[in-house]
Amino acid sequence: MPVTPPSERPEPVMDNVLSYARRPANPAVAANRDLETPLTVEQRSAMIDAVAVKMTEVLDILRIDHREDPNTRDTPRRVAKMYVEELLAGRFSAPPKITEFATTQNFDELIVTGPIEVRTTCAHHLMPIYGTAIVGIMPSADGRLIGLSKYDRVVQHFARRFQVQEELVNQIGEYLVDVTKPRGLAVRIKAVHMCKTHRGVNATHASQMVSSAYFGELKTNDRLKSEFLQECLGLERSGQP
Ligand SMILES: [Zn+2]
Repeated sequence: MPVTPPSERPEPVMDNVLSYARRPANPAVAANRDLETPLTVEQRSAMIDAVAVKMTEVLDILRIDHREDPNTRDTPRRVAKMYVEELLAGRFSAPPKITEFATTQNFDELIVTGPIEVRTTCAHHLMPIYGTAIVGIMPSADGRLIGLSKYDRVVQHFARRFQVQEELVNQIGEYLVDVTKPRGLAVRIKAVHMCKTHRGVNATHASQMVSSAYFGELKTNDRLKSEFLQECLGLERSGQP
């Protein structure tokens, strides 16, 4: 049989993925950073194919008979889709567009919104982290207030990647400060880390981690900060994970 010259062979899926990953315009970046350019539908689908191939190898190495076992037959592709379309979706897509702002003229009070559901994945162990976020906003007179559901979308965007909780609060805060230019802003997340409850020390779900980020007047004004914390305690009680 004649041998097909290399140029006429179909490009393997993995090569597609690597060829766009190698492009200087869209290089690999840290796990909780956005890619420079969001991925197209085709790129995502090539990425799912490539991850599924590797997940198949992982199950083989772990001696899981996914070819015969109906429980794991579709697991490689299921896991690949979950990574690309859900757990890491934030880094492959553009941050939520925030275009509508309410006027905040003569508004001189702290606004606190939450609890917002947080579902993210720990960058160290790839295990779930779940809990709640609360955002405090001290708008500026000529500043911009966004619809309350947008805060949830921003939290979700930065949560959909492999994260470290301390960096997640900062990323959410920096983005909101950048877009809404408030006098002050605070973000607090209280969450259970399953890498602590499901393995390692097998801690109970009561064992949580709290981290916060403060900006502008919420950083420098103790009265505002304690008002925010007071509101957090009430809201967190109503929204236990
Ligand atoms: Zn972890």
